[in-house]
Amino acid sequence: MADQFKSISDEISSFKVATSDDLEAYRLRFIGRKNIIGDLFAQMRNVPNDEKKTFGQKVNELKNLAQNKFQELIESLNSGDSNEESYDDLTLPAAKSSFGSIHPLTATRQRFIQIFERIGFNVSSGPEIEDDWHNFTALNFPENHPAREMQDTFFIEKNPDIALRTHTSSVQIRVLENEEPPIRTLSPGRVFRNEAISARAHCVFHQMEGLYVDKDVSFSDLKQTLFHFAKEMFSKKTQIRFRPSYFPFTEPSAEIDISCQICHGEGCNICKYTGWVEIGGAGMVDPNVLENCNIDSSVYSGFAFGMGIERITMLRYGVKDLRLFTENDVRFLKQFNSL
Ligand SMILES: [Zn+2]
Repeated sequence: MADQFKSISDEISSFKVATSDDLEAYRLRFIGRKNIIGDLFAQMRNVPNDEKKTFGQKVNELKNLAQNKFQELIESLNSGDSNEESYDDLTLPAAKSSFGSIHPLTATRQRFIQIFERIGFNVSSGPEIEDDWHNFTALNFPENHPAREMQDTFFIEKNPDIALRTHTSSVQIRVLENEEPPIRTLSPGRVFRNEAISARAHCVFHQMEGLYVDKDVSFSDLKQTLFHFAKEMFSKKTQIRFRPSYFPFTEPSAEIDISCQICHGEGCNICKYTGWVEIGGAGMVDPNVLENCNIDSSVYSGFAFGMGIERITMLRYGVKDLRLFTENDVRFLKQFNSL
């Protein structure tokens, strides 16, 4: 069986096309409706159960190889360099080299930072592996509090608990512990939750959290800051709305919605006909969190917010499946060349 895989893969790799008939021959053999790789899929039912997974993976690899090669062959035929003898013609233009581009998540993160730097925020970072204090306890998740159940966490060690951070709020705690107010900081970074991977969720994703602590920080500061952000990130016409919510580390807390960028409030399937889409959560920093970090909550107050960078990127560019961000499919990434 291994020989068969090897010989098909060799055949694909060494396939050359000079004419569109050659290309059609390739298509019929490897891509068309009744192709050689499809035959392998059909053999799957004869494979013993414990080998099915490896077998399936190998067939899929072949399928991808065949499809990528097909694209290459089409391009080489179109650009006219399929005829090997033509390489001898030194007057021909050089082969095109393609450049990479900024990943859409990076572009969104950079835009985030740009918007908030202009209103006085800096950027802070912290470890992805966190202790219980920074990820939970200091953020007002007491021992055995049901709120801890809200987050399915990848623990590395129990007693003392060490986990992959479930949010970048842990970075805010580090900043609050080490700096004096006024504090205005953004914490972008990778976070980890034990979630099934789907078009809308992933076990690894990126968050952007913001924190502002000073004297007399009010809820209206929070609203205006996020309104400013929404207009800068999306469009000048964007509206925001807050819905009451609960987080252990903020009080009061709210979910943040923006007006739907597709239908502008009229109602469409993206916003489930409500005219609004959720972009994150926010609230006034709970006084307990400030006290946990030795900041006098009778003098200082603050607000915090958190958003998923994937979610914002999906809304910005109309991406419908967040798995695309990590699949490294060049056909997807090429669409962001202009970034
Ligand atoms: Zn809509």
